[in-house]
Amino acid sequence: MRNTTITIDQDALAHNLQVIKQHLKPTTKVLAMVKADAYGHGIQAALPALMAADGFGVACMSEALAIKTLGHQKPIVLIEGVFSQAEWQTALAHDFGCVIHQIEQLNWALSLTPDDDAFGRTIWLKYNTGMSRLGFGDDAIIEAARQLNDAGYQLILTSHFACADEQSHPMNARQILKFNQMLNAIRQFAPQTLASLCNSAGIINFADQQHDWVRAGIALYGSKPVADQSAHELGLKPAMTLSSQVMALHTLADQDCVGYSALWMATKAHQIAVVAIGYGDGYPRVVSSGKVSITDAHGKVHQREIIGRVAMDMLMIDVDGLEINIGAPVVLWGASPSIDEVASCAGTIGYELMCRLTQRPKRRIVSINQPTSSQN
Ligand SMILES: *Cc1c(COP(=O)(O)O)cnc(C)c1O
Repeated sequence: MRNTTITIDQDALAHNLQVIKQHLKPTTKVLAMVKADAYGHGIQAALPALMAADGFGVACMSEALAIKTLGHQKPIVLIEGVFSQAEWQTALAHDFGCVIHQIEQLNWALSLTPDDDAFGRTIWLKYNTGMSRLGFGDDAIIEAARQLNDAGYQLILTSHFACADEQSHPMNARQILKFNQMLNAIRQFAPQTLASLCNSAGIINFADQQHDWVRAGIALYGSKPVADQSAHELGLKPAMTLSSQVMALHTLADQDCVGYSALWMATKAHQIAVVAIGYGDGYPRVVSSGKVSITDAHGKVHQREIIGRVAMDMLMIDVDGLEINIGAPVVLWGASPSIDEVASCAGTIGYELMCRLTQRPKRRIVSINQPTSSQN
């Protein structure tokens, strides 16, 4: 069988959530971001390990409903809000929390309000502090906050950092200033207004901006949130391991070529291994000096380079001088190499590698400590 496998470590997920919590005041709540199928980890695998979070953040209604279908009772927040009036009604029916970032959403919320005790009575009002992605501008947000407050909504002023991974980037100070000034202005007429600014990078780099809720994503999954520290240095553990096996071995002669476009050529007799994984599984096609870990016939692990072009179903690695058997285990990312090392060779970020895995690899969940039935 083709043993190309995505292994999700629930203990690592639970551990990473605790690491994040160690950065927080005890009163700060954590919205665990599980959009994009828990950053490609699978919500079924991820949610039971993240039960210490105070709520779950998703990008769209289908993701929210998928969590509901699994029987989870924790608050669910649609971090882009609803896309139509019909969806607003669905959000009310399921008591999802919603971001409101533009005027149509505001009007839907004003035309039909949830019950007083509903979680959806709290609106995550999005303020554009400089990223120019989602959110009301300076004047419109005051008006929106007034109207929502008058309609009896509890507000959480929310915004998103553009550059939180680079602590000294001037955008951060500007966004933080704008955010806190607006929070004060809104609290003049809606004193109970709460606030949420930080993603994973913000939690690490701007500890004084935790406010009432943080929205933690990438750190949960054990990939690096900030530019100048590795995930390992932050005490985060990789929640995902992508692995496969050697399916063929060759001894090349001098001048023999490897793979499509014959990009790699041996300059002497050379041993290579073919590994059963490619871009059809979600491994990036373009990697420069990408490495994998391979276990030799004696159980010793080596880091070896990918040679030639990554194909849809296979890639080739240099195993010269190693004793390798067919079936030898290969780790594409996990503890070593880390997903961040691979991402850097592929000119991207860990987030994208996690999200672009395909349906083809097998999926496996491992856990020593996690009671997988704990769904409250
Ligand atoms: C995805 C997302 C987050 C989480 O960001 P990370 O960098 O993964 O921690 C936080 N807030 C919003 C609005 C998001 O869309």
